[in-house]
Amino acid sequence: MLPVCLRSEVEYGVGPNPDKRDAVIRAATYRRPEYDNAGISFSPSTLEAVRSSLRLQFPPVQQQRGSSFSMLESLPLELLCDVFTSLDIEAILNLRQVSHRLREAVGAVPAYEFATEHGLDAVLALFWSGLGPHFTLHDVNNALRTEYCAVPRCGRFGHFVFLPTLNRVCFECLGHERQFSLLLLSKADIAESHSSEKSEPVHVMHTLPGFYSERKRKYHKQRHHIVAELDSVKPRDPGRGHYGWPCSNRYLAAIALPFLECSGSQVRSHHTVFCKGCVFARDNKLGPTGRARWLHGRTKTLPLLVNRMYDHRTYFEHFKWCRQAQILWDSGKEIDSLSS
Ligand SMILES: [Zn+2]
Ligand SMILES: [Zn+2]
Repeated sequence: MLPVCLRSEVEYGVGPNPDKRDAVIRAATYRRPEYDNAGISFSPSTLEAVRSSLRLQFPPVQQQRGSSFSMLESLPLELLCDVFTSLDIEAILNLRQVSHRLREAVGAVPAYEFATEHGLDAVLALFWSGLGPHFTLHDVNNALRTEYCAVPRCGRFGHFVFLPTLNRVCFECLGHERQFSLLLLSKADIAESHSSEKSEPVHVMHTLPGFYSERKRKYHKQRHHIVAELDSVKPRDPGRGHYGWPCSNRYLAAIALPFLECSGSQVRSHHTVFCKGCVFARDNKLGPTGRARWLHGRTKTLPLLVNRMYDHRTYFEHFKWCRQAQILWDSGKEIDSLSS
């Protein structure tokens, strides 16, 4: 609840127009890199280098007659696309290296195009962490199109995707829920029954070096083989203490991904955001009338508001009463009209 000194007198409705809602989000909110990069993250230069290599047309590799791929290559492009749609990520990325023909066929697979355009970091994270053989491009695309945390009754926006299962998860559940706990492979007991069709598949991943966590960011250099603690995976010798990893290490198996809202050919991406209006009020010690007020002394809720995370739905509940955010949006509109 907003304190009275920050609250607008009347409710400010934005309406359902998605373009207008996107414009409000751009004008009145911001993202925090430390939250976006709390899990596995790649530098923009790494992503750009990979993106250009995916676009690059290498000279064709000379195939020997009768090679194991020659029959595959002779299939019509449409048929190749159908076949490749069901392949795992590692297989499809490796196939691109075989020949021009197969590279062309892979590039024409809609799921490949969508995943590399909107979720390249997730594709790379799966490939480089050894999870590539366990997931398809469709799995990645489904995760990108999933909005909410997978924990029943949570209902929060899923900021992360948990790589060992590709489930969406919010900040809170990643830190607390048992289904996202991890074990070192060397300290885990994997039940024989895990390979049966009924049980959840157990995937081993190896961690990637980098900085993790949104607070107290720590560099993890060593690569570990880890598994998610599922029903069929238990700590070995639990009587001798806890062999699981600390909860803060769960970031090593998570990646922040936008939620993609798809309507026809239009794709809108939604992220976790913070309110610029509340930051403005804190930094300028301003109330809704613009008169200086020492808000820090008057309300303890402002620091909480500044650090509150929103998604593209919950933000509008806040925006309709956050006077400073409304002022930012209105002043942005004036600048737009002056420049046009
Ligand atoms: Zn949750
Ligand atoms: Zn606000």
